[in-house]
Amino acid sequence: MKRYLYSGETENLKREQCDVLVIGSGIAGLYSALHINPEHKVMIVTKTKVDGSNSWLAQGGIASVIAPDDFFDSHIEDTLVAGAGLCDRKAVEVLVDEGPKNIQELIADNVPFDHNPEGDLEITREGGHSHRRIVHAGGDATGRETTKRLGEIAMSKKNIEVKFETYMVDILTDEKGVCGALVNDGEYKIIECRNMILATGGIGHIYLSSTNPAGAIGDGICSAARAGAEIFGMELVQFHPTTLAIGSMENSERAFLISEAVRGEGGILRNQRGEAFMQGKHPRADLAPRDIVTRAILSEMKKEHLDNVWLDVSSMDEEFFKHRFPTIYQKCHDEGIDVPREYIPIRPSQHYQMGGIQTDLDGKTNVEGLYAAGECAWTGIHGANRLASNSMLECLVFGRRAAEYINGHFRTSEGGVKAGRDESTGKCSEIDNKQLEVRKIVSEYANAVRTRKGLAEGKKLMDEISEKADKLKLVNPEDYDYYNMVCTAKMILDGANERKESIGAHYIED
Ligand SMILES: Cc1cc2nc3c(=O)[nH]c(=O)nc-3n(C[C@H](O)[C@H](O)[C@H](O)COP(=O)(O)OP(=O)(O)OC[C@H]3O[C@@H](n4cnc5c(N)ncnc54)[C@H](O)[C@@H]3O)c2cc1C
Repeated sequence: MKRYLYSGETENLKREQCDVLVIGSGIAGLYSALHINPEHKVMIVTKTKVDGSNSWLAQGGIASVIAPDDFFDSHIEDTLVAGAGLCDRKAVEVLVDEGPKNIQELIADNVPFDHNPEGDLEITREGGHSHRRIVHAGGDATGRETTKRLGEIAMSKKNIEVKFETYMVDILTDEKGVCGALVNDGEYKIIECRNMILATGGIGHIYLSSTNPAGAIGDGICSAARAGAEIFGMELVQFHPTTLAIGSMENSERAFLISEAVRGEGGILRNQRGEAFMQGKHPRADLAPRDIVTRAILSEMKKEHLDNVWLDVSSMDEEFFKHRFPTIYQKCHDEGIDVPREYIPIRPSQHYQMGGIQTDLDGKTNVEGLYAAGECAWTGIHGANRLASNSMLECLVFGRRAAEYINGHFRTSEGGVKAGRDESTGKCSEIDNKQLEVRKIVSEYANAVRTRKGLAEGKKLMDEISEKADKLKLVNPEDYDYYNMVCTAKMILDGANERKESIGAHYIED
């Protein structure tokens, strides 16, 4: 693996300074930035606009023990069961215990959570949860409403500067740990800082079909690995059972999610013969953990030689469905599906990365001054399979903890940071159109159902590609994207080959 992607001159680069650099403007990045003490200068660097994150797309809601008949122990237990034995119990306890106070803070910050006609907070149930504990906003637009509001607040703060369309290329380190980042916003710059929070989100776009936006390729995880951070569990990739099955997977920009909350409100999976095939497969039937539902769907598709199965939402009346799931209602009608009367064709797609940059309970990595929060981090709370709606909660709880730790252990910037560079001499022109090759390999060999033989074959192919990529000279963000996709794919296939047991989302058929 290269140490640096940047291969240009390093002497005359422009320089800027901040106290805390946050990479990513999803919920983890925004919420952590908002919890840094106001006397510290915070910069948020994000490679897209405000709507380019997984957070923006999140539909169902945020899980937390809010309902009077719910229990902390029950949320902990549900999370541990979904995680299939790989969760860190202490981290799960922190997540669950600190959940409600962060939801209360979002309410105080005027995130517009949905209320019923009596004026009470609407609380729904999703797959794997034994109680109603999911709060939502805009019906099925929780992520958009939360990100929008946190973004507005961040941009109103004097100590926070948000730099959109700015690509973090390399993390810079010296003998004292993190000292800055090399970024590109049309020109290359060094941002000097001694405290950095990576909140760079997921990896979905390295798969042919994913609910994630195009920028989700694991580049934050790769840059951390190149700077010496420990990475854990990259083979633990979650597939969402229900994404809209329209057109071919290969050409689809992004798979449209049909939230688990639709099954929470009574949606039922059916096969070609109309049978509710989840009955008898798991005590929670259609609301079983995601990996179980995904595999049941794939098995039905294989048995019947089908490209999809169906979600029957006819138990809901039209007004309810339209009000509760306005985004899904509109999308289905745009595609000519007359919900709730007609069944929705669905199939599984990549959705979430459980593994990532290893952190402790304060978001700290093994690199001094480097923190990670949200989907790019491995805190141990999701184990081998994430419980629905626990991820936005993770962004809040652990994003805030990282910020509070930095406030108490602040490292002062000293300036004079040196950028490193890559000296490779290969040609970047060899990269053209190679992204698809990587996406096909990962989709074929590291999908929701894996085989030992396939994993070995996938690793062999990725090792060859990675060896060639290491020799290339990279000169622009498209080249960096390609290299980061290769690194992410290799980490997934290496991890999947190393992990011998079949567990949770890492399901080995043979
Ligand atoms: C369709 C969909 C529905 C979902 N529904 C739910 C739900 O109902 N409940 C739930 O809890 N979770 C849900 N999730 C998962 C959840 O939304 C995410 O896990 C979570 O929001 C991730 O937040 P984050 O802040 O860690 O990352 P993101 O929100 O993905 O933000 C990552 C940010 O990092 C930036 N970035 C990445 N690399 C770089 C770089 N090199 N330089 C600069 N910037 C960079 C990106 O531009 C982006 O701003 C859903 C996800 C999807 C895709």
